[in-house]
Order: sequence, then C-alpha cells, then structure tokens
Amino acid sequence: MRVMDASVYVGDGVLEVQQVAVPEPGPGDVLIEVGQCGICGTDVHLVLERIARPGTVLGHEWAGTIAALDGDVDGWSIGDRVVCGPTPGCGECRACRAGRPSVCLARPLPDHLDFRGAYAQYVVAAAAQLLAVPDELSLRQAALVEPTAVAMHAVTLSGATPDDRVLVTGAGPVGLLVTAVLHAHGISDVTVSEPSPVRRERALAVGAARVVEPTELPRSRMGAPVDEPCQIVFECSGRADAAESAIDQLDFAGTCVLVGTGHDLPRINHNRVIVLENRIIGAYNYDAGGFGPALELLASGAMPLDALVEPTDVSLDELLPVMRRCAAGELPGKVMVRPVRSEETT
Ligand SMILES: [Zn+2]
Ligand SMILES: [Zn+2]
Repeated sequence: MRVMDASVYVGDGVLEVQQVAVPEPGPGDVLIEVGQCGICGTDVHLVLERIARPGTVLGHEWAGTIAALDGDVDGWSIGDRVVCGPTPGCGECRACRAGRPSVCLARPLPDHLDFRGAYAQYVVAAAAQLLAVPDELSLRQAALVEPTAVAMHAVTLSGATPDDRVLVTGAGPVGLLVTAVLHAHGISDVTVSEPSPVRRERALAVGAARVVEPTELPRSRMGAPVDEPCQIVFECSGRADAAESAIDQLDFAGTCVLVGTGHDLPRINHNRVIVLENRIIGAYNYDAGGFGPALELLASGAMPLDALVEPTDVSLDELLPVMRRCAAGELPGKVMVRPVRSEETT
C-alpha cells in the first residue's frame, strides 16, 4: 500500500499529520498531486467548532497535477495542471431548468462529515469535472478558483451594475474576492466596512473605493433610506450585527446578498424591507458556467492576485495554528496550504 502525508482531523478540534493510504482512482477518475489547497472558512468552522468527523481530511480549494489516470480516461495526460469543477446538475429539475444547476434538487446533500479532501499529497477527482489551468496561472493562483467562482456568483445574483453604489461588509477572503470581482467588472463605487485595520487596508488594495469601520455606518430610519443608501450590499462577515447594519444601508428596491454564514441570527425589520421593497437573497454556490469563467477572470490580469493570497504558504503541520489565526481575523487574504511537512518547505 502506498502512503502519503495528510492532515487528519482527529477530534476535539485537533488536526494531526498522519500517513494515510494514497486514494485509488476508480473508473473515470484521475489521481492528482495537490499543488496548493486554500483554507476555507468552512474548514475553519468544521475544525475549530468540532463539527468534522474524526478520521476525515478536509480541504476543497485545490489545484494540482495529474499523477495517474484510470485506463478509460481520455483527453488528459500525466503532468497536466488541473482544477476540479462542480458536479453538474441533472438538467431536468426546477433549479436546473432555471439556470441554477449548482442548487440542483437532485444533487446529493453536501456531506462535510465524510470527506476526502486536499490537505493531503494526493486527491482523486472525476476526469469529467476537470478543467485545465491556463498557462498564465501558477497552481497556487489557480487554487483561488473555487472562492472566486463563489464571489462571481454572488455578484451575478446581485444584479449589480456600474451605476450602483455598493457596500461590502466584512473583508476576510470572501469579502476581498467579492470586492475584487466587482472592481474587475467595472463596478467602482464600492465601500467596504470592516473592523480590522489590516483587512481594511487589504480591501483598498483589491479595489475598494473607500473603507469604513462598522460603527461609521448609519442606523436606518423607519420607512426611509439612510442619507447615502446603497443599491447593493454584500454581507460577507457572517455576523448578525453586520447583516442588520448591511440591510439598514439599502436604498429603495435595493438588494442584500448574504454570503457569510454564522451562528448568531440577524433580526430583520420586515416593515422597512416591505416599505423599501428590498430583496434579501443568499449566494452559496456557482454560476451555471461553473469554474471556467473564474479561471478566465483569474488569468485575465484583472484580479489583484498578490493582494488576495497571503504571501507565505503553510505546511500541513502548521495548518491548525494558522486556522486559529484565520478565525481571529489576523490574515486578511486567502492562506494556501502546501501538502508537505514543515521541514520540507524550505
Ligand atoms: Zn471554500
Ligand atoms: Zn437538477
């Protein structure tokens, strides 16, 4: 049996680097050597809040190189640089017919508990879901494709145009990507609200026109917009108070897109939502085009890749302490994990 290093969740909020079996590609699968895998807020929640199932390997934001293929895989070769796109929708259900395959009613429920992820040297993926990494991108840049596709989907669902005044609440990796995608789409009147000074500074670096502290945002008036209302608001922090404040900033017919998840639930003044005819929607997955447009956008030069990704990659044994720093808001950009032990990183 071939073994590899992996960061395994062992329970009680603890990750351990262990030697586990290299996964076997099944029919139509490829084995991929992971280049980098980003730390997602979901992974941080699953570990630090002790939700993950002991024995699982997390990590889904990866890019890598094909290391082996099942015999009946066509069109790919060993050494190809790839990312893995979302599972396709059934094409027939109400969501698929409405152009929303990423919420296909026939898809299996996401199971974060039984998960074979990419905080490991190798992952297996279905060849049919692979996309080639464009030459312009390194693997660590291509590993941004999943959260970039999430940010693009949030912007698509919002209907934001260059005429809109936009607010983004929360400048962690998701808020920064939404800000960068808006900027790349020519939507320039973007304010970012964020309590952390390092994150506010990073928001300016990725395309925010101005940054504010959350306490600077005005409170709503009953039945009327605030003085400088926003047509579109993206709530990316997952905090209840930020969501309440975000909705307070909406103009007549304004739209709030909820992107950040969290435990504490916001209280919504339904009377004000009614009088202003606001829309409050959620964005979780991807546009119908999957990851292709996100790879194109990343390769186009229009995204500030250096400001979106933290400069130093972390090794498998550094993952847990770095997750704690992510949770504390110390690292504004996306942190990339290289699936090696720390003595191998230098
Ligand atoms: Zn993610
Ligand atoms: Zn479907």
